[in-house]
Amino acid sequence: MQTLTRRDFLRYCGLSAAAMALTSSKLGLLSEALANPSAPSVIWLHGSSCTGDSVSFLNRISDAFPTTVADVLTGAVNLVFHTTLMTPAGDAAVSELKRVYEKGNYVLVLEGGVPTAFHGGPCVVYSLNGQETTYMQAVQEMSARALAIVCAGTCASFGGIPASGSNPTGVKSVHELTGRQTINISGCPANPDWVAWAIVQLLTGTPVNLDADGRPTALYSTRLSGAAAPALIHDKCPRNNLVNPGAPAEATSFTNCDGRCTIQLGCRGPHTKSRCDGAWNIKATDPNNPPNQRWRNNWCIGVNGNCHGCVEKNFPGPQSFYTPYVP
Ligand code: SF4
Ligand code: SF4
Repeated sequence: MQTLTRRDFLRYCGLSAAAMALTSSKLGLLSEALANPSAPSVIWLHGSSCTGDSVSFLNRISDAFPTTVADVLTGAVNLVFHTTLMTPAGDAAVSELKRVYEKGNYVLVLEGGVPTAFHGGPCVVYSLNGQETTYMQAVQEMSARALAIVCAGTCASFGGIPASGSNPTGVKSVHELTGRQTINISGCPANPDWVAWAIVQLLTGTPVNLDADGRPTALYSTRLSGAAAPALIHDKCPRNNLVNPGAPAEATSFTNCDGRCTIQLGCRGPHTKSRCDGAWNIKATDPNNPPNQRWRNNWCIGVNGNCHGCVEKNFPGPQSFYTPYVP
């Protein structure tokens, strides 16, 4: 069984330093933090979600380091509980979780919204000695002692898809349930570099500035209009003729949308505060990477798709993704 060592994790952070805005001094701090036996542990729980945030994270790391999915991360940080990654199961795994919980020296990563209807019954996260614990109970209990809470993905951050439509399970965001400040790495899925960035900041004791929606300002835009920081999806879009004066006219149909602005077809780029350009599937800079891992720069706009505004609080919302968006 192959593991991702601390050295591998550091190397990953080094390769991704630009995307993660990690300076060399921050990497040095990270190295020290990972070597410290009393460094915080990480507990990662899953609620109402598709597990896409974990998959996104694991795919990113396995791009740089060919590892088996089941072993990624476990050797790099002290990840004591992650339903789809951990080797122990049942009472043994939950006992270790409880031991770390009692000490309180952990970062809590939450993936998925919280079903609150039926006393939280739609989502059971573990059982101990035959006693089941719902995700709602676990989030309430674990968040109370956590050093910090990272919401991986839009479902934990804002409710996301599970909280939309007529889902009867009463899904809420972690903040709505607990009232605690959460570091929201929203996205559907969350950008893996940004999840790693948040964990790195916490492991190195670096304060994280958040916007009004709990998202790190270093990763997400804080504005909806104006000219200063280019951060809206729309501001970086090559189909925006203010950015690219040669851009062709707006598309009116998906049959003629190649390279054309798709605002009439539902693009939410003008309303989306995120820095996705260059942050998804970034071009690898390590020449030692295999050729098939040097291609990466295909964000939604780059592959001729709409921005669906997946990092926003009102995602997905009641409107179709393919009719003009009214916020
Ligand atoms: S395609 Fe979307 S992001 Fe690009 S210019 Fe049109 S509205 Fe803006
Ligand atoms: S471009 Fe839009 S839909 Fe795509 S990941 Fe970024 S915020 Fe989400």
